[in-house]
Amino acid sequence: MSETFFLGWSNYKDSYCKCEPDQYMTHVVTSACVNHKYQDCVAVCPVEAFRELPTYLVIDPDECIDCGACIAECPVEAIFADTDVPDDQENWIEKNETECVDAEIAEGDSPILADD
Ligand code: SF4
Repeated sequence: MSETFFLGWSNYKDSYCKCEPDQYMTHVVTSACVNHKYQDCVAVCPVEAFRELPTYLVIDPDECIDCGACIAECPVEAIFADTDVPDDQENWIEKNETECVDAEIAEGDSPILADD
């Protein structure tokens, strides 16, 4: 992904989104990822938005460009647009936002816990 693309996206968000920067739409990993962490999603993300925790992934909302490419890749259907998160998973919106801060960028090469 080129630097021009990133600058273009940043300018787009700043110019056209009618919300505060911390209210941009994003995508969210939910509890179905826990103890699975398949990471098929990491391979298709164009902006390295996934962050890795010991037993699941989260998405950095400041990096996610809402392309939706990761949704269909998840074998356990753990990823949703933040506007589509099931009611009983809504706590994961904040969980993604807060836990991504100190987490490493997911490389997609850690063990697949579901097979353990
Ligand atoms: S929606 Fe697109 S940019 Fe956001 S985490 Fe998924 S693949 Fe990455």
